[in-house]
Amino acid sequence: MGNLPLEVKVEIPNGISYTQPTGLFINNEFVYPKDKKTFEDISPATEEVITEVYEAKEEDIDIAVDAAIEAYKTWSVSKPELRQKVLLKLADLIDENAELLSSIETYDNGKSLQNSKGDIALAAAYFRSCAGWCDKITGNVINTGGQHFNYTQRVPLVCGQIIPWNFPILMLSWKLGPVLATGSTTVLKSAEQTPLSALYIAKLLAEAGMPKGVVNIVSGFGKIAGAAIASHMKLDKVAFTGSTLVGKTIMKAAAESNLKKVTLELGGKSPNIVFDDADLDESIQHIITGIFYNSGEVCCAGSRVLIQSGIYDKVVAKLKKAAEAIKVGNPFDPDTFMGAQVSEVQMSKILQYIESGKEQGAKVISGGKRGDAKGYFVQPTIFGDVEGHMKIAKEEIFGPVVTLIKFDTVEEAIELANDTEYGLAAGIHSSDVNKCIGVANKINAGTIWVNTYNDFHPMVPFGGFHSSGIGREMGEEVFNEYTQTKAVRIKLNTSRF
Ligand code: NAP
Ligand code: MG
Repeated sequence: MGNLPLEVKVEIPNGISYTQPTGLFINNEFVYPKDKKTFEDISPATEEVITEVYEAKEEDIDIAVDAAIEAYKTWSVSKPELRQKVLLKLADLIDENAELLSSIETYDNGKSLQNSKGDIALAAAYFRSCAGWCDKITGNVINTGGQHFNYTQRVPLVCGQIIPWNFPILMLSWKLGPVLATGSTTVLKSAEQTPLSALYIAKLLAEAGMPKGVVNIVSGFGKIAGAAIASHMKLDKVAFTGSTLVGKTIMKAAAESNLKKVTLELGGKSPNIVFDDADLDESIQHIITGIFYNSGEVCCAGSRVLIQSGIYDKVVAKLKKAAEAIKVGNPFDPDTFMGAQVSEVQMSKILQYIESGKEQGAKVISGGKRGDAKGYFVQPTIFGDVEGHMKIAKEEIFGPVVTLIKFDTVEEAIELANDTEYGLAAGIHSSDVNKCIGVANKINAGTIWVNTYNDFHPMVPFGGFHSSGIGREMGEEVFNEYTQTKAVRIKLNTSRF
C-alpha cells in the first residue's frame, strides 16, 4: 500500500505495452489519495491482476469537488470556441489512440476487441457531435410587452458522475461530452471493475488543452466514493448509470443532502418483437445483436424476444444455429464476438439465473453453461417455453441469456411488451411500416428500434421510462440536463425615449 508508482507499465496480451496512470486525476495531475490505499484490477478473460490503482475516499472526493468548483469560475464563462477546440482535439486523440484504447478496454472489461473498437469509434463521434453544440446552447428573449425586458440564460453545473463497467469509455463520453460542451465541470468515478481506460482518457483530456479542474476522474468503490458524490453538499447534480437498485440509493442521497439534480440511466428488460411478416434473416441478426452484443452486458439488451406464432418454429431453429455459431473466447481474437463477463460475481449471477430458468421449467435451446476456458465466459443462452411468471422472464440478467415467448395477435404483443417495470428500449421487426409505427406508439419505452437493434446515434436521445431512469443522454435534450435556466426580468423606463 502506498508504494505503487503513479504510472505503471502494462503489457496487454495482444502484444501492446503502454504506460498506465494509477493515481487520481485532479487539476490535470495524477495524484495520490490521502491515505494512499490501492485496489486490484482484474482481467476477466485471464482472471489475473492487471495492476493496482489508487482508491478515492470521501476526503479525496472533497478535494476533487473543490477543484471542479474552482475551475467552474472560468470554464462556465469560457468562449464556446475554446470548449469546441478541446472537444475536437479530444476526439482526434481518441481516434489516434483507438488501437491502444480498445486494447485497454478489452483487457480490463473482457469484452471482445470487435466490440471495444465499436465503442471507441462511437465515443470519438459523440465528443465530435458535442463540439458542434458548444456555440448553439443559447437563451431566449421573452417579450412580455410593457416596460419589461426578459431573457433567459442556460447556466452550467458543477457535477458528479458515476459510470458503470459495461461500456467504460462510451459511458464516460456520454457523461463528459455535455459537461465540456456546456461549460459545466465534474468529478467522475469509474466502476471499480474497469478503472483503466478512464484514467488513460484523463491523460488525453489534459493533452487536448482542457483547463485544470474541469474534469476530474477518480477510481474507487461505489459505497465510498460513489456515495460521497451522491450526497455531496457542494455538487449541483449527480448523473448515474448502473443498476436500478443503486439508482434509487443515489436519488435518496441526493434528496437527503442538498436536493441536487439527478439523472439516472438504469436497467431494463427490453422486448424485441418479431412479427410474421418480418424479414426473417435480418430479424435473426438483430435478435442476436440485441442480446449477445457486449456479452449481453447492455442495459437496453433485447432480452425478451416475442415471436408471432406463424414464424415461431422457424425463428427458433435459425436463432439456435446463429447462437451456436457465435465465437466465444479470447477477446483479442479478431473473430471473437463474445468475450468474458466482467467479473466472477457477474458470471455467477448469470449462471444462477440460468439455473433458475431450468428449475422453473424453461427449455434450454442453446448454451446454458459456463465456457470451458479459463476466464469468466458464459455460453450464449436461449430459453424457449418461457412463461411470464418465471424469474428469467421478469428480472434483468445482464448477460447473454434470452427468453423466447410466443404470441398470436398484435394486441397480445403490445401487452407482453409493456408487462415490465422497466421501459428502456424495445425492438419491432415487420415489413409493414404502419404496423411498426402503430405498435411503437403503444409501447412504453424511451427508445424504439424498428427493423434494427442496439443502434445508436449521437443526435438521438437515449433514456428510460418507469424504473429505467430519469432524464436523457445524447441528442439535444442532454444539454438541458447539464444546464439550469436563469430568467432575468428587467423593469425599464423607456417612456422618455
Ligand atoms: P452498480 O452497483 O449499479 O454500479 C454502477 C456504478 O455505481 C459503479 O460505478 C458503482 O461503483 C457505483 N455504485 C455502487 N453502489 C453505489 C452507491 N451506494 N452509491 C453510489 N454509487 C454506487 O452495478 P454493478 O453492481 O456493477 O452491477 C449490478 C447490476 O447492475 C448488473 O447486473 C446490471 O443489472 C446493472 N447494471 C446496469 C448498467 C446499465 O448500463 N444500466 C450498467 C452496469 C450494471 P463500484 O463499481 O465501485 O461498486
Ligand atoms: Mg477489470
